[in-house]
Amino acid sequence: MKLCRVQPFALGHPELGHSSSVRVEIPSHAAEIEGEVAYEIAGLFDGNRKRTGRSWPLKAVRFLPPVNPGKIVGVGRNYRDHAAELNNPIPVEPLIFLKPPSSVIGPEEPILLPAISKRVDHEGELAVIIGRTCSQLSDRDAVEPYVLGYTCLNDVTARDLQKADVQFTRGKSFDTFCPMGPVIETTLDLADTRVETYVNGARRQSGALTEMIFPVDVIIRWISRVMTLLPGDVIATGTPAGVGPLVPGDLVEIVVSGVGTLRNSVAAREA
Ligand code: ZN
Repeated sequence: MKLCRVQPFALGHPELGHSSSVRVEIPSHAAEIEGEVAYEIAGLFDGNRKRTGRSWPLKAVRFLPPVNPGKIVGVGRNYRDHAAELNNPIPVEPLIFLKPPSSVIGPEEPILLPAISKRVDHEGELAVIIGRTCSQLSDRDAVEPYVLGYTCLNDVTARDLQKADVQFTRGKSFDTFCPMGPVIETTLDLADTRVETYVNGARRQSGALTEMIFPVDVIIRWISRVMTLLPGDVIATGTPAGVGPLVPGDLVEIVVSGVGTLRNSVAAREA
C-alpha cells in the first residue's frame, strides 16, 4: 500500500514551502493510493487508516513530504563503497547524526544551495518511517511492528562544511537539505530493493540494500537503544557510492525500486 500526504490543487496555496526561510503551514490530507486516485484516510498512524469518503485524482494533487518528522536520524558510511570513496574507514558500529525537521521539503520543491558552501552533494537514500513508539529493542525483537513504511530521501550535504567542522550538523542542516517522498510504501522486500540517483537523467548512484554494512533492522534496534523513536520519525539509512556535486539548474531524482521517484530542482539560495 502506498500512503501519502497531499494538497489538492483546487485549494490554492501555490507558494509552497520556502519562499522565505520559514515553512508555510498548509492544509494537508493523509491519503492512500489506489490506481490513479488518492483516497483520504483518517490518519497515517495508529492503524487509523479508515477512508473518509473524499478522494482526488492523482493529477489533481500536490505531494507533500509524507510526514512531518519530529527528528531525522541519518546513518553515515553505511555502504562499503561510499566509505571508501571518501577515504573513510568502515565503521565498526553505526555512525548516526541528526538532521533538523526544518530541512525537510517535498517532491518538486527546489533544493537551495547556500553561498557559504562551494560543494553541495546529493545522497540518495532509503528512508524508514517509524509508525509506533519504540525504545530499547533487543537483538531478538522484530522491527516490523514499529515501521510504517519506506520512502525516498535525499540527504543533501555541504561536503566542504562537513569536513571543515568534523561535526556533521552544519553540513547536513540547511533549509531544503532533506527532500522526502513522494509516498510511503508499507510493503517492501528489502532484499530486492535498489537505491539510485540520477542528475539531469544521468545515473550517478546505484546500490542494492543488501550492500549495507548495517542492515535496516540492525539500525532501528541500535538507534532505539540511544533515543526513543516516535511515530513520524525518519531514519535515513545511508547512501551508496557515487555521491557528487549539485549545481544550480540541476534536476536530481532519487529512485527507490518499489517505492517511487523523488524529483527536485536545484537553485542558488538568494541571500
Ligand atoms: Zn547520507
